[in-house]
Amino acid sequence: MAQASSSPADSLTESTVRQWLRERRGVAFCCACLAAQTHQASDRARIAAALNVLTKRPGFLPGRCACGAVGVRCSGEHQQ
Ligand SMILES: [Zn+2]
Repeated sequence: MAQASSSPADSLTESTVRQWLRERRGVAFCCACLAAQTHQASDRARIAAALNVLTKRPGFLPGRCACGAVGVRCSGEHQQ
């Protein structure tokens, strides 16, 4: 298991995912669809980890992706 949760690549992925979800407020995406739509299929595991982190952050909630899998959505609350 990778324990280096604070590497630059991980935080970059997390910020990319966060921005993506904010731009599509209220729409949930699972890691597979998000990876495909952001053309980062090879980073799917990292995106999954980023989504897992984001569900614990204010303003993000679990949601049902269009494909039926459980994903994450931006609730639109706690805007900065
Ligand atoms: Zn999906």
